[in-house]
Parts: sequence; C-alpha cells; structure tokens
Amino acid sequence: MTQSETDTTAIRLQNVLYRFNADAPVVLDVPAWEVPRREKIFLQGESGSGKSTLLALLAGLQTPSSGEVTILGTAMSALSSRKRDRFRAQNLGVVFQQFNLIPYLSVLDNVLLAAKFGETAAAATKQRAIELLQRVNLPCDLHQRKAAQLSIGQQQRVAIVRALINSPSLLLVDEPTSALDHANRDAFLTLLFDVLAERDCAMVFVSHDPAIGQYFHSKVRVSDINRAETVG
Ligand code: ADP
Ligand code: MG
Repeated sequence: MTQSETDTTAIRLQNVLYRFNADAPVVLDVPAWEVPRREKIFLQGESGSGKSTLLALLAGLQTPSSGEVTILGTAMSALSSRKRDRFRAQNLGVVFQQFNLIPYLSVLDNVLLAAKFGETAAAATKQRAIELLQRVNLPCDLHQRKAAQLSIGQQQRVAIVRALINSPSLLLVDEPTSALDHANRDAFLTLLFDVLAERDCAMVFVSHDPAIGQYFHSKVRVSDINRAETVG
C-alpha cells in the first residue's frame, strides 16, 4: 500500500503563501488546513476572497509561493508539472466556474476526453460515461449533441460527469450554480449529493452564496483559513 492510500487526509495545507507574482500582494496565507478523506466541505467566501486561487493550488494547476500542499498523501511540490497533470487526471475531479466544455464536441466526447488518461478499457469507460450521464438526467438522445447546444443546467451536469468519470478521491467544485435560479440550484445540489452518496469521494465546494451551506454538514469560511487581506 502506498502512502497515498494510507493517509487519512484528502487535503493538508501547511504554511501556504500565494502571490501571483513577486511584486503582487499575498492572496492566500493559510497557516494550516486539513480536510479528512470522504469529507464534503462547503467553503464560503466573498468574491475576491481567494476561492478560485485556492482551488487552483489544490488541483495542482498553480504551485504555492511557499509552503506545502499535500493531496491524498502526495506532496504536490514533489511532482513535476507533467506528473501533477497525471495525478490530477487520476485522482481529482474539477468543475470550473465556466464548466470549460469543448463546444464543438458532443456531450459524450467531452466526458470521454477527460477519461483519456484513465486506466480503464475504452469500452468499459464509454459504458460508464453513458450510465453516469443518464444518472444526472441527461438521456441518451442528448449524448451526441454538441456541448454548445445545451442549456446551462445541462452543461453543468456534463461537467460533473466529466469530473467523476475517473472516480476521483477528491472533487473540487468552483461555484457552478452562480448562473442558475434557486430552483435549478437546489435540483443540482440534490442531484450532486445523490451521485456522491455512492462514492468514497471528498469534496470542496466553493461559493459566495451562503444559502448553499444548508446542503453541507461541514462549513468553512475562507476568512477562517486564509489570513491574507484580499479585496474583490
Ligand atoms: P474568488 O474566486 O474568491 O472570487 P480569486 O481567487 O479569483 O477570488 O481572486 C483572489 C484575488 O486574487 C483577487 O484579489 C483577484 O483580483 C486576484 N487575482 C485573481 N487572479 C489573478 C491573476 N491572474 N493575476 C493577479 N491577481 C489575480
Ligand atoms: Mg472565483
């Protein structure tokens, strides 16, 4: 068993500082933060409080100016950027604020593209993608439709399926509900928890919207963990 399998934390930050460049102000100053495996956390903070930047560090898309980010027992700084990409593909699911679907690819191909780095056989992966899409109320007749021709709510569900296709141990979600009305937001969150209930997956869900906290047992404010003075 590797260390990453025995470590009981999904996320560990130690003395993390982040600035966008040497002259820029410190955006993140997180002395210590831990999220246990399987825990689902709501991280609430105002616009400009550093939520998206923090998720980029957790995903290994950015590296801290100093300090250590450890994800699933793996110190991200020990990995080359290429190995970080592979680590992300194999262990993490990321849903960005803008979904980042490829507009001219079909629903199914958007999901399968993310599965490319996965180790499972192609036919089995395709079957899993189809099942997951159906699971989030995207029926088969939508699977060949181009992503550009979907509603926002449908795109959001494709993005979730894409993030889950490699069965991640940690799901990072960046306020995907900001473009939705309340009814659709609530339906989406119910569906998300439904899909996650069958999985041993930790999640960090960030949003400026405190109302989303009602869906979570664990709630954290960005200002509780980030000492940096940030302005939106
Ligand atoms: P949030 O996601 O909570 O709205 P962000 O993480 O996007 O906050 O931004 C945190 C702070 O970092 C803000 O002050 C923002 O202006 C600044 N920032 C974000 N992206 C960049 C960038 N690429 N270069 C410089 N500053 C940035
Ligand atoms: Mg943001």
